[in-house]
Amino acid sequence: MSELTEGKKLQEKLSHNWNNVWEKSDEKEIEKIFDFSENYKAFLDKGKTERESVAEIIRMAKENGYIDLNEAIEKNMEVKAGMKIYANNKNKAVAMFVIGEEDITKGMNIIGSHLDSPRIDLKQFPLYEDSDLAFLKTHYYGGIRKYQWVALPLALHGVLVKSNGEKINIVIGEEESDPVFYISDLLPHLAKDQNAKKLGEGITGEGLNILIGSIPYNEEDLSDKIKLNMLKILNEKYGITEEDFTTAEFEAVPAGKARDVGIDRSLISSYGHDDRVCAYTSLRAILEINNPSRTAVGLFVDKEEIGSMGNTGMHSKFFEYAVSEIIGLMEESYFELKTKRALGNSKVLSADVAAGFDPNYPSVLDKRNAAFLGKGIAIFKYTGVRGKGGCSDANSEYMSDIRKIFNNDNVIWQMGELGKVDQGGGGTIAYILANYGMEVLDCGVPVLSMHAPYELVSKADVYMTYKGYKAFYEA
Ligand code: MN
Ligand code: MN
Repeated sequence: MSELTEGKKLQEKLSHNWNNVWEKSDEKEIEKIFDFSENYKAFLDKGKTERESVAEIIRMAKENGYIDLNEAIEKNMEVKAGMKIYANNKNKAVAMFVIGEEDITKGMNIIGSHLDSPRIDLKQFPLYEDSDLAFLKTHYYGGIRKYQWVALPLALHGVLVKSNGEKINIVIGEEESDPVFYISDLLPHLAKDQNAKKLGEGITGEGLNILIGSIPYNEEDLSDKIKLNMLKILNEKYGITEEDFTTAEFEAVPAGKARDVGIDRSLISSYGHDDRVCAYTSLRAILEINNPSRTAVGLFVDKEEIGSMGNTGMHSKFFEYAVSEIIGLMEESYFELKTKRALGNSKVLSADVAAGFDPNYPSVLDKRNAAFLGKGIAIFKYTGVRGKGGCSDANSEYMSDIRKIFNNDNVIWQMGELGKVDQGGGGTIAYILANYGMEVLDCGVPVLSMHAPYELVSKADVYMTYKGYKAFYEA
């Protein structure tokens, strides 16, 4: 070992370098990273919609001793420290609570993620035929780059409530033996006009029509024979009629499973990492929390991709009311003020994916302030657009708390920023929870190709994010 020069010593003392998780992990830790990812991939494959994800989260919660808040209310159970409760919001969002020793009015430790992902929804009267082919009209959901969603195999996931109230879950296209669906694209030979268009305008929203079949119903002098045959098949299989589509929720998502990427298998490509990667890592973390000092909350919401509106989005009062109900079950006398205090004194990690630095597109991020794949959980002090427009800017004091928690628990973390200052931007649910006065910080997993049919994450970051979330709950 050569002696360190004065300059090198000073550099070691004063400068900061971000760590690569793989480099800093021993064999045992790397084994944990890979094991964790196997379970994460299984979760991705089971839940490709918000409804399927909620079902899986509740299944796992029940398995771990969580009870339904509605059941607790019905039985007027006394809520005590150590109890585990979940609240299901219309099968599209869910909140999990582990009641802490400390008075809940001192605040909760909340991790909030979202379960909806960009996709292509069916319109409410979707079925038609044209030129001897049957199609479904669609209306895309969230910020998709439309050109990415053509000429690839799609699966349909949906729920359909018939007029008699019967609810049918339909999934077509995920089993090897299932058929898939398809949106066609133009052949390059005839794409002269399309190629000259701007990338964002080459494919239109109304052009995203899903091909579902081509065999006509066999009878002469009948109009729309192909459409009729599609209805016949659907009726035979699911007992549905065309009118049933009007009340259905169908989502077209990329068909297929999450896959390892790279000859070292260090990355995962999948539909819906945004934001099921933060949902799963926070789910695993809270499932391992028993008897915390502060009440731990896992919040999994819907509609983030379209502005968190609606009764299943973060803007809904669902979470606030669930907290009220729990406090109501804790003691004889309920005061509204207690809910306000519990919310206002809470600490939040707004758990959402981050734009990872992509060497193929280096110009959109400031390399000195970007999150990198493999460098751990990424912390975002602020998001927003241009001059931090619309963001929740985390307070220095709170940032420091989280930094301390991560450093004490050997969580490898990094800073990030959503793109260069004038490049665009975005936001998460952070600002909505901040409205209560909660301390909120965005942090999650860096992703490449965010909102594409197949997004990319590093297994190292997935594991570090789980570790970071767990440290937060335990702090
Ligand atoms: Mn997201
Ligand atoms: Mn998103």
